[in-house]
Amino acid sequence: MQIKLNFLGGASNVTGARYLLEVNDTRLLVDCGLYQERDLKYRNWEPFIIPPSSIDALLLTHAHVDHCGLIPKLVREGFGGKIYCTTATSEITKIILLDAAHLQEEDAALKKRRHERENRKGRFPEVPLYTQEDARAAFPLFEPVNYKEPVTLGDGIRATFYDAGHVLGSSMIKITVSQQGESRTILFSGDVGRWDKPILEDPTEFTEIDYVITESTYGDRTHQESPDINESLAEIINSTWKAGGNIIVPSFALQRAQEILYHMNQLLIEDRIPHIMVFLDSPMAVRITEVFRHHSDLFDKEMSRLMRQDRSPFDFSGLKMVQTVDESKALNHIRGTTMIIAGSGMCTGGRVKHHLVTNIIRPESTVLFVGYQAIGTLGRLITDGAKKVRILGQQYPVRARIARIGGFSAHADRNELLRWISNLDSAPRQVFIVHGEARAAKKFGQFLRKKTGWEVSVPEYRTEAILD
Ligand SMILES: [Zn+2]
Repeated sequence: MQIKLNFLGGASNVTGARYLLEVNDTRLLVDCGLYQERDLKYRNWEPFIIPPSSIDALLLTHAHVDHCGLIPKLVREGFGGKIYCTTATSEITKIILLDAAHLQEEDAALKKRRHERENRKGRFPEVPLYTQEDARAAFPLFEPVNYKEPVTLGDGIRATFYDAGHVLGSSMIKITVSQQGESRTILFSGDVGRWDKPILEDPTEFTEIDYVITESTYGDRTHQESPDINESLAEIINSTWKAGGNIIVPSFALQRAQEILYHMNQLLIEDRIPHIMVFLDSPMAVRITEVFRHHSDLFDKEMSRLMRQDRSPFDFSGLKMVQTVDESKALNHIRGTTMIIAGSGMCTGGRVKHHLVTNIIRPESTVLFVGYQAIGTLGRLITDGAKKVRILGQQYPVRARIARIGGFSAHADRNELLRWISNLDSAPRQVFIVHGEARAAKKFGQFLRKKTGWEVSVPEYRTEAILD
């Protein structure tokens, strides 16, 4: 039995998750993510390190673009095996890939026009990395699986998916190799979620694993003591309502938008806020919410109880799903206080920009941030306290109230990662720390080694480990 593990992405960096597991002649790829760090994006354009046609199957942990975003390119360049993931992940991934392809087509067209105008050539080709047609070509390969039901991938090789509690459908994947009377287990953590979060079950815990490949996004940090989200949200809504303004919430389409709806539903049930209209103004978030609606089998106890009581956070009175651009524009003419949840989460694009134009100049309105804002984004400028911002080519003074609510992170922090991995009854043969900035991964490695005394390593990009 020979097992080799190659770290082809998400190794000493965060995005572009891609891990190649070779068991004798069987090649399995775990995740096929897009690189999003500016200085690593060039890797998206590089040929795959091995021919995609030589990969037998792809195992997908979840629908975030840094885990699934390069699938259309993998398929276009010859991959023809099955893509195993949970049903919810396959449904959400399809929505996300079409959106990603659309953005790339737009981006390429924009760059082409700009370069023509400036009479120069860019660093990357002016063609989309992949098109919507490429994305659709990958869809027939999806093979939905259920949690805890092993699938056979080759001679003595099985994969089992477990709830990771990160986003709907997210998985940790355990691969069991049993050959010649010997057996090894290899666990890919995917992105580890958090305990006691709304809607989702807690991350699955394991007692016996030989090799653990774990993420470390927040491996060098602890989240601040979670504020009472309902308390903060109620205060913001009540005071904005009194002032007569709107509440604009830039949000990611997957998980965050649904969590906001969950909290709004709670506040309405408890009668802590007035019955304002709530608009989910993002076609992608609306489609993803639809997936949530028909996957109540994945909800935790509290959420299941709400559904049984006919108090779904996706159907409360006053909630409207906005589809067309015209409907979206019409929101500007509604009198009285409304909440508008729109993408993108960091205000880098999408419909939220239009709502910002209308509301950021109004002292009675509130812009409410519920997620991380990366350096260089419009969201970051606003949360850093800019007095004026440029939106859609025009300068606007920031007069609205700028509010933030923390505590929404979908990633386990250092202590939660330790809590998760400490469930193992005995030392694994090796723990590999991946999916974190080099610094975060190294620091989490040191921390874990100190706490457990286990064999821990932080693999570099394109290195190989022998799992014996
Ligand atoms: Zn994720």
